[in-house]
Amino acid sequence: MHAQVLRAAGRPLESVELSAPKAGPGQVLIAVKACAVCRTDLHILDGELAHPKLPLVPGHEIVGSVVGKGDGVDRFAIGDRVGVPWLGWTCGICEYCKSGRENLCGRARFTGYQIDGGYAELTVADQRYCFPIPAEFDDAAAAPLLCAGLIGYRTLRLAGDGERIGIYGFGAAAHIVAQVARHQGRQVFAFTRPGDKAAQDFAHGLGAVWAGGSDETPPEPLDAALIFAPVGALVPAALAATRKGGTVVCGGIHMSDIPSFAYRLLWGERVLRSVANLTRQDAEEFLALAPQAGIHTATQTYPLAEANRALADLRHGALQGAAVLLP
Ligand SMILES: [Zn+2]
Ligand SMILES: [Zn+2]
Repeated sequence: MHAQVLRAAGRPLESVELSAPKAGPGQVLIAVKACAVCRTDLHILDGELAHPKLPLVPGHEIVGSVVGKGDGVDRFAIGDRVGVPWLGWTCGICEYCKSGRENLCGRARFTGYQIDGGYAELTVADQRYCFPIPAEFDDAAAAPLLCAGLIGYRTLRLAGDGERIGIYGFGAAAHIVAQVARHQGRQVFAFTRPGDKAAQDFAHGLGAVWAGGSDETPPEPLDAALIFAPVGALVPAALAATRKGGTVVCGGIHMSDIPSFAYRLLWGERVLRSVANLTRQDAEEFLALAPQAGIHTATQTYPLAEANRALADLRHGALQGAAVLLP
């Protein structure tokens, strides 16, 4: 099969031919139809996430169809369409796993990081961490739901019930979360790179009541802010834009260092927290909600062989919505 492979951090992906993977016990073999590109993939390529499997097939927003089954597979039949997210395996016995927080499992393994992912024609996945894809979405449209949508949804949920939601970094996650927030009757305030008129227009088109640069003050204080851009300096900026008692949630897996800031920005019972990974319950909830909320994903598709171009476009902010690879 054709695959895009990372041999070492800091190097571009290589186009290679690999022998087809085999489904082990409890695993399904999946013919990949679409795999979205996530900022986390860039962090892995750049060596900002330590100790990836090497060589590695990246990609953790996979949509495909089941073409093979290992022993004991009972959740899916041949031909079923499934999605594979970032969470690929958990231990099931630790304190976190047993308390509904498998996203924090210390032994968790992640797709496209410790497990080969979806930048390939075929992949295998543990059936317990695969999900049916709602029929309303075609393959390419569904792929960004698997991380941008899922992690974005968890980020919004952990921000609380406030009405005025600020979103810093208006990329793949933000464009989905904005639609969920609107569906829930909330107001969205979009913060983009200063001067990025195209991203601000994109946010307005998705129903944002206000869009401006991340260096601007919103017209009203925010009840909560979500940060999806990997820029630590946005933390004090978001705290400054958030009202007393509000919450700032960092939704990314890696960020540049957060500069020191005055305690008064946190004072007033503001809460600053992160979101780590996802649980299977998040996936089930969000994939049920996405069609109800009428989510429409904006995608820019690339042939699998052009994965490096898709990653470069994501790095440089040269696309709106999500990049999706098609094998
Ligand atoms: Zn565990
Ligand atoms: Zn991701």
